[in-house]
Formats: sequence, C-alpha cells, structure tokens
Amino acid sequence: MSKHTAGIHHITAFVRNAQETVDFYSGVLGLRLVKKTINFDAPEVYHLYFGDEKGSPGTIITFFPWAHSRQGRVGAGQVGITTYVVPVGAMAFWKERLERFDIQVTEATRFGEQLLQFEDKDGLKLEIVEREQGPQSEWSFGGVPAGKAIKGFGGALLYSAAPEKTATLLEQVMGLTKEGENGGYVRFRATGDLGNVIDVNTTLVANGIGGAGTVHHIAWRAKDDADHTQWREHVLQNGFQATPIIDRQYFNAIYFREAGGILFEIATDPPGFARDEAPDSLGEKLMLPEWFEPRRADIEANLDPIEVRVLEGDRS
Ligand code: ZN
Repeated sequence: MSKHTAGIHHITAFVRNAQETVDFYSGVLGLRLVKKTINFDAPEVYHLYFGDEKGSPGTIITFFPWAHSRQGRVGAGQVGITTYVVPVGAMAFWKERLERFDIQVTEATRFGEQLLQFEDKDGLKLEIVEREQGPQSEWSFGGVPAGKAIKGFGGALLYSAAPEKTATLLEQVMGLTKEGENGGYVRFRATGDLGNVIDVNTTLVANGIGGAGTVHHIAWRAKDDADHTQWREHVLQNGFQATPIIDRQYFNAIYFREAGGILFEIATDPPGFARDEAPDSLGEKLMLPEWFEPRRADIEANLDPIEVRVLEGDRS
C-alpha cells in the first residue's frame, strides 16, 4: 500500500496559563479560537484550539493549559519549531508587531527562506515564513488584518533522536517527497498547500523534556474515515504500534511513536469544528462531548474563565 498525507492536520502543545495562551495566539498572532473544550482524558484541564476562520486542517494549534506543569525543554524526540506561513510581503508587519508586544524576535534562514523566530510565553518555539502557497486567511482580529494574517502552518522542524529513521518514515510511510539537504537539515514536502514543508535535523540535538513550552504531538491529515482505516493498517504493516481509532469529536485519531521519539497522530479532516457550533460562533461556548454533559456544572466551576480580547496595544 502506498499512502500520502497532505501534511500537518494539527499540532498540540503544553502551556501553563489559559488566558495568556488566548492573549498570545488570538490577541497577538490573530488566530481564531475555534474550539473551547476540555482534555477528554483530564476534564479539569481546557483543550483550546486555534486556527483560521474555520479551523481548517493545516492551521490548527491546540493547547492543554495546566498551571502545575513543569517547564519542558525543546529537544530531540519533539517538534522543535512550529512554522507559520504569512502572505508574501507581510514579514515586516509581523516583525514590527511582535516587537511592539515585547516579543523577542530573531532573524534566521533555512533552505534560503527568511524566517522570523520567536517564542510564546511558555517558551514554545515558533517561526514565521512568507510564501505564496496557501489560501489567504479570511479572519481578521485586533491589529491583524486578513491580508497580513497567518494563513496556517508552513510546516514544522522536527528534532529527531534518530534522524535517518525519521527521514525514512516521512518518505516511505507518510508519503512525503524529499527535496534536499542544507545546513544540517533535510527538507520534505507533502501534497497539501499548508502544513506541507517538514524539515528534520541531520545532526543530533540534546534530548527534549516534555512539559510547558513543548509540543506533545504532531498530527497528519487523513482524508476521511475510510482513508483513516487504511492509514492505521499501513502504519501497522510498517512495524509501528498504532493505537485503536479514538473519537476526538472533531476528528478521529490514531497515535504512534516514531523511532526518533516524536509522537505522531493521524487525524481525519472531517467532521471539523462546525460539528457542534455554528461557523460564525465557533469557540464561544465551552463545548463538551455528550458523555461529559451530566458533569457540566462541576467542570465549568473548575475552570478559570477565559476571554478572547483585543489587547491593550491594539486599542489605541
Ligand atoms: Zn492531536
């Protein structure tokens, strides 16, 4: 069986504070909070999803904010840097914006592309790249007009503890195409137009430690349930221990850990975030799967209220 993923479906990371996370990803980066729910395995913790106006696959970053989390360390066995893509010509806007919000930015280059690198409040490593590819966002918020807005993921830089094995997996199992090697990284490309450029380290980096400021897993796209079932077979046939299919409400998921230590998920594009809320009111209410509804009052009482708000720096 030969399979190809279109690219990244979502990336999930650990942070400490829910409101700070909303202020950073919606307030500063201008992403839409498309779903406010709970960690289905730990209902005392939020699960927050940010993306484009619809929460399209390839744009979604999700967080488990947990105040008592230890500080993690970004390193081998994790996604090292999450890459966001903006329209060509928008980089100067973003540099000025991030600096205005006192976020330290560093300019870097990889495979000839200019990058603006920075961290969120917990130390999660992010970068912005300009590319033509990918539809322009239709979402504008605070000081971020749609024409400058983040389109979604450009891709990710993976820090593998076994780079050659991870490279083989990306090419031979996930169906990405190898593009080249440069400056200590090998680049792969998937067929989608967002979340499609994946770089892997070729030299070893120190091991990562899970915790706040690190990515928990990276999820790849499956077209639908039939494709997802095939993906599970395909992953098993290639010697990986995949979980059974798990219902995550907004997609179905399987998980497996690859040889370089990074937790991979494969997630279905449907049903998406309009499954339980109208498209124009995504993210406004705390949404619970029906098996948690009887406990709603307790669950809500346990969570600090959060709001999507225009930040001080965008109000004047
Ligand atoms: Zn996931």
